[in-house]
Formats: sequence, C-alpha cells, structure tokens
Amino acid sequence: MTTLFATAQTLMPGGVNSPVRAFQSVGGEPLYITGAQGAYLNDASNRQFIDYVGGFGPMILGHSHPEVVQAIQEQAAQGLTYGTCNPLEVELATLITSIMPSIEMLRMVNSGTEAAMTAVRLARAATKRPKIIKFTGCYHGHTDALLVAAGSGATTLGIPSSPGIPDAVTQDTLSIPFNDAHALQRCFQSHGRDIAAILLEPICGNMGLITPQPGFLETCQTLCREYDSLLVFDEVMTGFRVALGGAQSLYGIQPDITILGKIIGGGLPVGALGGRRELMEMLAPVGPVYQAGTLSGNHLTMAAGLATLKICQAKSAALYSQLNVYTKALCDYMQTTAQRLNIPIQVQSVGGMFGFFFSDSPVQCYEQACQSDTKRFAQFFQSMLAQGVYLPPSAYEACFVSGAHGDVELRHTCDAIQQAMAAL
Ligand SMILES: *Cc1c(COP(=O)(O)O)cnc(C)c1O
Repeated sequence: MTTLFATAQTLMPGGVNSPVRAFQSVGGEPLYITGAQGAYLNDASNRQFIDYVGGFGPMILGHSHPEVVQAIQEQAAQGLTYGTCNPLEVELATLITSIMPSIEMLRMVNSGTEAAMTAVRLARAATKRPKIIKFTGCYHGHTDALLVAAGSGATTLGIPSSPGIPDAVTQDTLSIPFNDAHALQRCFQSHGRDIAAILLEPICGNMGLITPQPGFLETCQTLCREYDSLLVFDEVMTGFRVALGGAQSLYGIQPDITILGKIIGGGLPVGALGGRRELMEMLAPVGPVYQAGTLSGNHLTMAAGLATLKICQAKSAALYSQLNVYTKALCDYMQTTAQRLNIPIQVQSVGGMFGFFFSDSPVQCYEQACQSDTKRFAQFFQSMLAQGVYLPPSAYEACFVSGAHGDVELRHTCDAIQQAMAAL
C-alpha cells in the first residue's frame, strides 16, 4: 500500500510544506492528522496521541475549543475576505494593546516571518542604521536577512544558513551567542553607531528551550539605550504563552518593538508587530516605510485570535497557573526519572512551554545545545510516539502544554516517559 507520505514526497519537496514536519532527524514517517480535540491528535489510521506540539504554539486552549470554532464558523458565514476594514481587527488591536503596555499601536500581518521582516525594516528606517544583532540559534522566520544561524528547522537539517541568500543581504546581520553579555558589549563597542536593533527571542524556543540568564535581558536593554538602538522582542512563541503579557511582563522589560504571531491567530495564519506610536506611525500610509498584505487582519483570523485571547484573559489566573503546574510536574518527573536511571538530561521550562536536552552540562546557548545527544532524542521520541505521546519531531523544538491537558494526560505521559527512558 502506498502511504500518503510516499505520495506526498512525489508532489512536495520532502513530502512537506515546512521542513521539521518531515521527521528527518527522528526517522520514520510523519503523522497525517485528520482531527484534533483538546489535548489529542487523531491520525489517518485512527491512532490517538497526546499532543505536545500544539500546532507549534498557537493551541494554548487545546484543539477545537468550542468558542474558537464557533467564532470562526459565524464569521465564515459572513464571507471569507473583504479586502477592506472590519470591526474585529479593531477589537483585537484593542485587546492586545490593553494586555501589552509596550504596544501602543500594531500592524497585523500573515506570519511571524513577515512580522520580523517588517520589524527589521522599521528599525532600520527609524534609526537610519543598517545593522541588526541577532543571537545564534534564535529563529525569526525565514526572511533572507535573518536566516543566519537560525535554530530549529535549519539546525535539524544542518543548514546553518541557506544557499540562495547573497552575502550582501546578511552582511549587516551580526550573530552573537545567546546569554553572552560580554560578546554583546564588545559588539556594541565595535559597531554601536551602526546598530539599528537587537532582535531576540527573550526566551529561546527554537533551539530547544533556553531561558535568559539573570540580567541578560537587562543588559540588552541597557546597551540599546546607551547606543540609541532599538530593542525588538520576538514574542511570536512566548506572547500570551509564558504569561498573559508574554516574556516582557514576566521579566519586566519593555521592548521598543514586539513581534507577535501564533496564539494571536488562534490557529489561523497570523503575525503582528507593535510598539510605541511614533515608531509605528512610520509605517505606510502615515509614514514612508512600506508594508502591505492582501489578507492582513482578515476577519476569520481576527475572530479566532479574539476568541482565544479573550478566554486567555478572562481565565488568566486559572489558565496560566494550570499550565505552570502541569508543565512543572511533567518536567520534575522527567528530571527525577532520568536521574534515577543515570541518564544525563537538562530540562528547562517557563509557563506552558518546556524543553529537554540529553546532555550532562547546562545548556545556555546554541553551541551547548548542539552538544546534546540527538540520536538519543530520536530514540526517546519514537518510544513516546509508540506509546501515544506526540513530541516535536526535533531535539531543537520547544514542547507546548495546553489548557486541555489534565491529570489523565499527565499520568499517561509520565508512564510513557518512564518506559521510554528505561529503554534508552
Ligand atoms: C514561529 C516563529 C516565527 C515564525 O513565524 P511563522 O508564522 O512560522 O512565519 C518567528 N519567530 C519565532 C520566535 C517563532 O517561534
């Protein structure tokens, strides 16, 4: 019997529409999902999996949340795209700006990639400077200038950058190890007056999960202020995920520009960038920085995002503490089980996201992440999959918990971890 994946490979490069999905680093064939409810994915062969990928981030409420589904259905019955303004984009902008005080104005786009690309253009225009600092292993989408040492997908495939990008396009992208305050200081000493912005994931989720060391984000902010550069937080993954107000509320740091995506689209394609009014008003049609999008702010995406964010806000105390408690229990179990079996592991988590490296030394940057045992990860991944638990199919992706994950799922997952680790 020809599998769907075999057919797909004749029709799409690698059989996929996004590289990590191809299972190249873990082996075997990707899941073909036909439905998803709550914490579970159902595949085309009627198997069920507890899902820790959550659509790579958006599904914070779990799959097919009735209010989100209803919001999309109601809007779909009113037409699919208008090419003009709609009330829901105003409502979602109101909600986001009320939750994130650093965002006075925002522009909706269709992906995180697009948002990061526009944020860089805006930062360069606002500062009249060319250079961008990014951190090795941080991913900001696949736009040319930012596809330098860019984490997960590229890392999984062993492509640190990509052919097809002229040197001229990346020569103003400076790449520094995450959590290395000294390297950052040196970079500003050499290039300070040319640096438009530091662009970073305040909590890295695209080289596994790596948290910022105490003081690191503050150093970023201080240097930006000292050199009149802009601080850009890519909160596509962390926004409304690690806390309602994102990493910026958790660490008490207000970036100049914030990049959003994933959760704010409730599962539909989305991105956004936001910041102070005078910066954002540099965008067309008020200012000269051009940016546009046929489907930007479309009412279906806005409806899904609004329904999701409204629930996150209304239930924030219960939701975020539940995500914390669940994630912490799972991570603690993983840690103690590994310890008992003498398996070297590094587990990190923030709110409803976590990551683990099979490594005997702490992981604070990309270089250290690359020293982890990815063969062991692949073995662990397959064993978890066989027991009905779906982890991201790469050692360099973060795992996500949703509000639909409860005691039953936690127990099942812990049992699977015990079995999988004992078999390593
Ligand atoms: C997912 C992600 C992106 C890219 O978003 P797309 O919608 O896939 O283009 C950018 N930055 C971060 C931190 C992400 O996690």
